Amino acid sequence: MSRIDVMRPFLGAEEIAAVTATLESGWLAQGPKVAEFEAAFAARMEAARAVAVSSCTTALHLALVVAGIGAGDDVVVPSLSFVATANAVRYVGARPVFADVDRLTGNVTADGVKRVLTPRTRAVIAVDQGGVPVDLTGIRAVCDPLDVVVIEDAACGAGSTHRGRPVGAAADIAAWSFHPRKILTTGEGGMITTANGEWADRARALREHGTSRSAADRHRVTLPAAESYTEVAWNYRMTDLQAAVGVAQLGRLDDIVARRRELAQRYRDALDGVAGLRCVADPDDGTSNAQSFWVEVSETAARSRDGYLEALAAEHVSARRGIMAIHRQPAYAGSDAVIGDLAVTEHLTDSTLILPLFHTMTEEQFERVVRTLLATS
Ligand SMILES: *Cc1c(COP(=O)(O)O)cnc(C)c1O
Repeated sequence: MSRIDVMRPFLGAEEIAAVTATLESGWLAQGPKVAEFEAAFAARMEAARAVAVSSCTTALHLALVVAGIGAGDDVVVPSLSFVATANAVRYVGARPVFADVDRLTGNVTADGVKRVLTPRTRAVIAVDQGGVPVDLTGIRAVCDPLDVVVIEDAACGAGSTHRGRPVGAAADIAAWSFHPRKILTTGEGGMITTANGEWADRARALREHGTSRSAADRHRVTLPAAESYTEVAWNYRMTDLQAAVGVAQLGRLDDIVARRRELAQRYRDALDGVAGLRCVADPDDGTSNAQSFWVEVSETAARSRDGYLEALAAEHVSARRGIMAIHRQPAYAGSDAVIGDLAVTEHLTDSTLILPLFHTMTEEQFERVVRTLLATS
């Protein structure tokens, strides 16, 4: 019996041809393919500007820097997220303040944000956890009157919608991931989208050592004018090899999301009547790309959450525990992060599991997962 992975990227001949063509072009680092990917991504996500970077983690870091967040500032983040969401806040010397999440969506809410605001709150990072769109509209209604910047961690969100638009489009600035665990992949990679031209320009410089003139621009002419380095910055560039894959992947987005939503609905049809199991679903005001399909296991279920994970592993099914709780990690013990009531976060991280779901999943694989979950002994 072959192992069923929790996720597999969906790649094909277009990606291979794109990498080959880029290798043959001789231009491997950030250049024309990165510019092409940025333009295509911005158009697809209804963003005015897109800036490609090396990961979503570096995108979040730069988002906070260009928004002017630093020491002495508080940033509201969910604890129920990948650790990078809160780490980015600490990179800039600001203080993470954890907000609890909604049990149905796993996302922070306007009320949850409001409960943890402090006089020092300067930004909120709202996450589309597992691809479920966060209520950006509600969160903006709380933040805008207070001049609190709304950053969307859309690492998992490509292809999800909120109120009929792509997630990310309603945020002040959004950060995206192209890690293979996400919907689109470039191996590693990330993107910043924003309508703010000054922020986008500064992010472009900051991803490239704070240069006044990009290396790609300098390469275009035989004798370039001297560049200067305006502030201490980083090398967070994406390569043209990655961007070539990204362009091809973006062309598959609608296909990938349709297939994932179809499989998610089939999981719900098979499991929703089962005692003690609740499957993640679309919220009222949006659609999920089903990046992570999670199931909440309650007391009335035939097995515990970990019992299901063991039963699945015995059938060579690689399911996963639910989203982590950042405040429980050793890196956050004794930190200045503000940890209040996170009861729902702790409940969800302890009681949910993520099922395998990927484009090329076969009938046999899907049936094996469902059969194992339905077996009561
Ligand atoms: C994966 C993920 C990240 C980090 O993305 P990288 O591209 O691997 O840096 C950040 N936030 C969330 C919510 C994620 O799921």
